[in-house]
Parts: sequence; C-alpha cells; structure tokens
Amino acid sequence: MKLDTKVCLVTGAASGIGLAIAKRYAQAGARVAIADLKLEAAQAAADAINADHPDVALAVAMDVSSEEQVEAGVATVVAKWGAVDVLVSNAGIQIVNPVEQFAFADWKRMLAIHLDGAFLTSKAVLPHMYAQGSGSIILMGSVHSKEASPLKSAYVTAKHGLMGLSRVIAKEGGPKGVRSNVICPGFVRTPLVDKQIPEQAKELGISEEEVVRKVMLGQTVDGEFTTVEDIAELALFFAAFPSNALTGQSLTASHGWSMT
Ligand code: NAD
Repeated sequence: MKLDTKVCLVTGAASGIGLAIAKRYAQAGARVAIADLKLEAAQAAADAINADHPDVALAVAMDVSSEEQVEAGVATVVAKWGAVDVLVSNAGIQIVNPVEQFAFADWKRMLAIHLDGAFLTSKAVLPHMYAQGSGSIILMGSVHSKEASPLKSAYVTAKHGLMGLSRVIAKEGGPKGVRSNVICPGFVRTPLVDKQIPEQAKELGISEEEVVRKVMLGQTVDGEFTTVEDIAELALFFAAFPSNALTGQSLTASHGWSMT
C-alpha cells in the first residue's frame, strides 16, 4: 500500500508506536509531521527518518491537550505542505491506580491527553480535509477500548470514549470524503508499558515477571507481545485504504487477547 506524497500528521511520534508509524509512512512515500511534546525529541525522530528518506519528515512541538498548540502545529504543517491528508492521534500516557486512590488530577490529565487530544487534533485537521474532499483519521485506541482491566479506570474510560468520537467523525465526515477508524493494540513493549510493569507488580503484589506473563500476556493465544511494526502496518492499511467503505471501524491486534 502506498501513500505517495500524502501529508500525515502523527502525534506522540517521537517514541514507541507513533515513531514506528511515522517511519512506515515515510517508507510508503508519505510526508510525515512528527508531533510531540518536546521539539528536540520530535526533531531527533524527524532527523532519523530524513536520513533514510530525505526531506519527508518535519518536527512539530505540540501538547495535544492544548488547543493553542494543536492549532499552531497544524497551521505549521499546512503552511509547509498545503494539506493534511492523514491524522494519527496517537499521543498517550498511562497512569495506574485503583479508583479509590486515583488522584482527580491524574484522571483529568489522562482524559485531557487521550480524549481532548483526539478531539482537538481532529477538529484542527477536519476543515483542511473537508476543503479537499478527502482524508483519513486514525485514533489510537487499545484492547482497552473494548475490555476493562483493574487499575486502569481513566485509560479504559478514555479508550472506550475514542470509539464514540471516531464513529461520530465517520458519520459527519463520510459525506465529505473523510474516514475515521480506531486501532486497538494489545500490549506492545514501549516505554509506556515498561513503566507499568513495576507499578502493577507493586499494586497487585506479584513479581514483574508475573505481571508480564499473567496480566499482560496471559490471555493471548501465544504469550507474545504485539510489536510496534504490527501496529504500523495497520496504520498504513487504514491510511492507504482506497475508498470510504472502511470507516467507523476498529481493528484489534493483540495476539488474540481480545477477539471482538
Ligand atoms: P510511548 O510512551 O512510547 O509514546 C508516547 C508518546 O506520546 C511519547 O513520545 C510522549 O512524549 C508523547 N506524548 C505524551 N503526552 C503527550 C502530549 N500531551 N502531547 C503530545 N505528545 C505526548 O507510548 P506508546 O506505547 O507508543 O503509546 C502510543 C499510543 O498507543 C498511546 O495512545 C497508547 O495508549 C496506545 N497504546 C499503547 C499500547 C502499548 O502496549 N504500548 C497498547 C495499546 C494502545
């Protein structure tokens, strides 16, 4: 599947899944805006991509929970390349705690990054997509868009919420040529997951090895982590799909942990 010269904005693209998607898009011929909190980190990712694919990556500093920064970042991309064809709203963090100990400030921060971030970035790119009559929005959900786990109230709430947002964008955007879909990864070994292992071990009173084997991979069909490359392939599939037939959908890649 090809993305010849398409302009793709990927948030949280300095690390993990977002970085792998940006690399895969560049390999498929796209121009990619690497949006992340710190300009230096985004620039390092853009430099690495440009080393392999000259002049296709642009670094953009953007806190996705700030309307001002999202609007400024999208304006930078449009000023450089004249369009946004694909948005991957991927930036995210994880905070684990039981509900009764979950700090309200942490709850609000989680919803701000995952939900406000997806809303604000979609809101900012949609007028450009509508003006050209085409576009693809991809929201980074999770198996936790469909399933629940202990300690993850804010994350599960936010990831379920993204399914609703995506379906509304699919309905509003369909007549204007814009698709919206959700990717639902199982556990992928990134900094976001590495941070959770000792935290969950402490909360659940089990070893780190048990967190990985039982909590994270216990319900997969083969005890394997999903990889960033697996998710990048799905992101390419959704971005490059040739028609509006594929919209309002979610696709799970989790080694069979979730089969819905
Ligand atoms: P990661 O920590 O490797 O990368 C997340 C990136 O998002 C970082 O570069 C970080 O700086 C950036 N970020 C955080 N807050 C931001 C903000 N406010 N504005 C802009 N950028 C911000 O994590 P990852 O595992 O690659 O996660 C990426 C997405 O995939 C998240 O939405 C996460 O919920 C989702 N996801 C991850 C897994 C997994 O197992 N790793 C599974 C399912 C879904």
